Amino acid sequence: MIPTFIVVNAGSSSLKFQVFEQPDGAEARLVWKGLYEGLGGASHFLVRDPSGAKLDETTWSAEDGVGHEEALMHLVSWLSQYREERKLIAIGHRVVHGGETFSGPVLVDETILQTLETLIPLAPLHQPHNLEPIKIVRRRLPGMPQVACFDTGFHQDQSSLVTMFALPREMRERGVRRYGFHGLSYDYIASVLKDYDHGLAEGRVIAAHLGNGASLCALKGGVSVATTMGFSALDGLPMGTRCGALDAGVVFYMLREMKLSLENAERLLYTKSGLLGVSGLSNDMRTLRANAAANADARNAIDLFVYRITREIGSLVAALGGIDGLVFTAGIGENDAATRAEVIAALGWAGLALDEAANASGGPRISSGSGPTAWVIPTNEELVIARQTWSVLGAAQDKLAS
Ligand code: ADP
Repeated sequence: MIPTFIVVNAGSSSLKFQVFEQPDGAEARLVWKGLYEGLGGASHFLVRDPSGAKLDETTWSAEDGVGHEEALMHLVSWLSQYREERKLIAIGHRVVHGGETFSGPVLVDETILQTLETLIPLAPLHQPHNLEPIKIVRRRLPGMPQVACFDTGFHQDQSSLVTMFALPREMRERGVRRYGFHGLSYDYIASVLKDYDHGLAEGRVIAAHLGNGASLCALKGGVSVATTMGFSALDGLPMGTRCGALDAGVVFYMLREMKLSLENAERLLYTKSGLLGVSGLSNDMRTLRANAAANADARNAIDLFVYRITREIGSLVAALGGIDGLVFTAGIGENDAATRAEVIAALGWAGLALDEAANASGGPRISSGSGPTAWVIPTNEELVIARQTWSVLGAAQDKLAS
C-alpha cells in the first residue's frame, strides 16, 4: 500500500484539493488535483492529472444542495474508486491563522481545534472556512489524522521588534501584532532557492508573491525577517480586491463621515478595493493589461500596483541591509512579464537589470549584469502542506513507537 493523503484548501464556496502519494524516503508526489466550486449553489467538481489533463467532472444543480460536507464525502468516495493500491492515511489543511500559539504544522485533536477556533477573530473572513472541513472530517471520518498547516507559521521567527505595532502594550498582550501571511508559499520558495543558485539560499532575497492576494517577504538565509502583510491579510501591497496598507484615519472617516456600517467598511476594503477599485474594471491583471492602452483607470491601477511593490521592496532592502536576489511568484509574478519588467526597471538604483529575452520567455533567471539577480519561480503551497503533513505524521508515529 502506498501512503496517500489529501491536501485541502477550503474557501467560502470552494474546496481546492490535491492528492499526494508518499513513496518511501522520497518527496511527496502529486497524483491528482482538482476543485469543487459554487458550493452551496449550482456546483461543479473537476479533477485533473498532474499534467493538467481533465480526468473527471460532475455538476450539481442548486437544488442538489452540495456543500462542503457533501463535497468532501464525494471526494473520499471518488478516491476509493481510483485509489488502486493507495491507502488514504491523512488529510492536510491550509489554515490561514496559527496565531502566536502555532509556529509550525500540528496534528489536530479536539483541544487544538478549540484553540484554532479562538483565533477566528484574527481572521474572521477566512479561518471559519478553513476549519469547517476539519470539523466535517472529524465527524464523518473519525480517526482520520488531520494536520493543520498555517499561512502565518513561516514568519514566526521574526524578531518581536519587527512584529510590533506602536500601540499601547495591552494591545500587544491581546495578540494585536504583525503576523504575516503567504507563509506556505514563502516556505516553498525558500526550500528551492538552492536549486536555482546556491548563494541565493544563503543570501538576502526578497520574494514577491503576486497573485489575487499579494505580499513581499524578506528572506535571510531562507528565514523570514520581514513581510508586508501584518495583523491581517489586508496590509501591504494593493491586491486584486484588497486595498493594502492604509492610513487607519481613512477607516475612521468611512465610519464617522460616510456612516458606513462596520460590515460595509470591511467589504469595501476587502472586496471592492485594490486593482478592482482603482480600475473600476477588473481585479484580473490579464483584463487590465488588455485594456491599459485605451483605459486610463486600468493603467492607473497597474501603475499603483507596481509603484507600491517597488516602494515596499525599498523598505525590505533596508530591513535586509541589501539585496542579493528578487523572486517573482504566483499568478501575476509567474505569468505577467510586463509587471516584472516594470518592477525591475524601477529598481535600477539597487543594481537590478532586466534580461528582456529571458523575462519574455519566463526565466527562470530574468536579470542581466553583475548586480542582484531576479528570478521567476513557480510556487507550490500544496507541496509544502504535503511535506508538513507527512513530517507531522512521522513525528507522531515516532512518538507512539518510543
Ligand atoms: P490566488 O491568490 O487567487 O491564488 P493567483 O496566484 O492564481 O491568485 O493569481 C491570480 C492573478 O494572476 C490574476 O490577477 C490573474 O490575472 C493573474 N494572471 C494569471 N495568469 C496571467 C497571465 N498569463 N498574465 C497576466 N496575469 C496573469
